[in-house]
Amino acid sequence: MRRAVASLSFLAVAACGGTPAQITSVAEPVKQPAATVNVSLADVGLDAGALDKTTDPCTDFYQFACGGWIAKTEIPGDEAAWYRSFNEIDKRNETALREILDNVAKDGDSKLGKYYAACMDEAAVEAAGVTPLADLLKEIKALKDVKQVPELVGKLHRRGIQPLFRLSAEQDMGDATRVIASLDQGGLGMPDRDDYLKDDERSVKLRAAYRKHVQAMLELAGWKPKDAVTATDDVVNLETALAKISKTRVERRDPKGLYNKLTREQLVKANAKLDWNAYFLPLDISPTDVNLTSLTFFAGLDDVLTATKVPAWKNYLSWRVVRGLADVLPKRFVDEAFNWKKAVTGQAEQKPRWRRCVQDTDDALGELLGQSFVALHFGGASKQAATELVGAIRAAFGDNLKTLVWMDAATREKALDKEQEMAFLIGFPEKWRKYTFETDGKSYAKNAMAAAVFQVGYDLARIGKPLNREEWQMSPPTVNAYYDPQRNHMVFPAGILQPPFFDAKFSPAVNLGGIGMVIGHELTHGFDDEGAQFDAKGNLKNWWAPEVEKQFKGRTDCVAKQYSGFEVQPKLFVNGELTNGENIADMGGLKMALAALHKLHEKATELKVADGYSEEQQLFLANAQAWCGKMRPEMEQTQVKTNPHSPAKFRVNGPMSNLPEFAAAWQCKAGTAMNPVSRCGVW
Ligand SMILES: [Zn+2]
Repeated sequence: MRRAVASLSFLAVAACGGTPAQITSVAEPVKQPAATVNVSLADVGLDAGALDKTTDPCTDFYQFACGGWIAKTEIPGDEAAWYRSFNEIDKRNETALREILDNVAKDGDSKLGKYYAACMDEAAVEAAGVTPLADLLKEIKALKDVKQVPELVGKLHRRGIQPLFRLSAEQDMGDATRVIASLDQGGLGMPDRDDYLKDDERSVKLRAAYRKHVQAMLELAGWKPKDAVTATDDVVNLETALAKISKTRVERRDPKGLYNKLTREQLVKANAKLDWNAYFLPLDISPTDVNLTSLTFFAGLDDVLTATKVPAWKNYLSWRVVRGLADVLPKRFVDEAFNWKKAVTGQAEQKPRWRRCVQDTDDALGELLGQSFVALHFGGASKQAATELVGAIRAAFGDNLKTLVWMDAATREKALDKEQEMAFLIGFPEKWRKYTFETDGKSYAKNAMAAAVFQVGYDLARIGKPLNREEWQMSPPTVNAYYDPQRNHMVFPAGILQPPFFDAKFSPAVNLGGIGMVIGHELTHGFDDEGAQFDAKGNLKNWWAPEVEKQFKGRTDCVAKQYSGFEVQPKLFVNGELTNGENIADMGGLKMALAALHKLHEKATELKVADGYSEEQQLFLANAQAWCGKMRPEMEQTQVKTNPHSPAKFRVNGPMSNLPEFAAAWQCKAGTAMNPVSRCGVW
């Protein structure tokens, strides 16, 4: 389930010799002058072949660190983007997961094996045809009156199909110990509300592609061509009405605006035409209070409800069912769904079926699959080493806090308190989730629908219960990390604790530039423009002295303005407001990683120079090389509009050019791009 307050993940969708365990063991009682040892870049864990030495590191460090890699790397046909880190690790993980699944699929009794085997059985999927749609479409067809819409929407939500809006169980932003029902805007088929409303060339083109796609899907599902045209009009009209009342992505970054807790009575009163009691009935919940992430959206929904006629409702709800189940239907549906994906991302080819089935099995049974994954691919030593790195970064954050001139003593104390209370989870959950739904080896659709019903039930059962702070929102093989402001904890799945982010064989400088920066990034999320509004307990509660808060706001505004000047494609700029939290986290993450290295150096007896690059330089190279990436132009356009993270180049050059230590390490002249006259700095 998507959380109303987004967890702040690392992606989009984050040198001396020896092991990271030596971070503590390099300690010496008496400070000795450090000896210099010459080694190669490969020895410390860096890729000399990725460099572009024809570019001046002071002009464009990303190009300097990654240009060689960019020149020789092609985006695979079945990908919309390719990163040296994320995708290479994903590829390794996917292969490992496939091996696990192939093995368990041979065992007729394994829940995991049956799920994967049924997904891989294309002949059975073809033979089943559109029967998985039949019951739901029949129910929609029986709709007689607009008054019946809420109950029908409730029934679909119970099945994991998401028309109109989204229901989930969320922490109460005002009381982090409670879990309450939350209603969030939704119901759109295009990536962003603006795609329905803007008249620039790309939006117009995308809308035309979307219409074509909706029509094609409905025809595949049995609509006559003429009826499919009318139905497409209905779908696009209704979704456009929803887009108009939806908040923008930037507006959704304001937690206060997302917090509108109503009692059940207030909710019923607020929506005179939407029968909430009828809606909750099939969901088998009866919440006493509910949070609405937007009062405007739900007030507007009342008008949408009455302005839309029964036949249009039937078409819209049917479309949501067909779209929601397309993946479990025959190839003609999957191919048409891919046509739409292609329009949005530019991805040239469909991923092979096994990759889609591995992903889907991970989505449905992530912690079951994750158990096998960590048993085979995640050693205890990695957890220990990562824990030590977290300690080093936290210490750096605390030390840095003392030096910030714009803080006062009281606010500094509160910030330190929040950092001290911040929990972290590494590798995999202590207690694995149990999946109580049945799978059979024959029907992929049946399994997927059972998984969806189970997932919704699992989520809604949390309402009214005490919060489980140990629960994970990512499966262990996921190559990502996140900070959750309401739980005040950061989470690093086993998937990201791998090269080039982390390797026990890498030097501390390289590990700090890789996973160290990721840890610092997540930690800083607790203090970015969004995270800073939550206190140590995870409550939306202001702990700032007003004057200090003003200073903070000025600093975060500086970052937003600076990043809005970064040009991604001709005339396409980074949205500094949308990406503000991530940029602040990137800047803080790099700064903490560097500070942790400096701390190590205080007691180091030996400094490694790798092909002429100092340890500080190695840290910057490691950080940049974790970000070497290529993206298709269509994907880049979609990402700039929808992704809260900046494109890779600016995730590297932005934080580095804001850090005076970078310019010192690379001896950049004042006024060069990487040593600018004016800088921004928050943490
Ligand atoms: Zn992040």
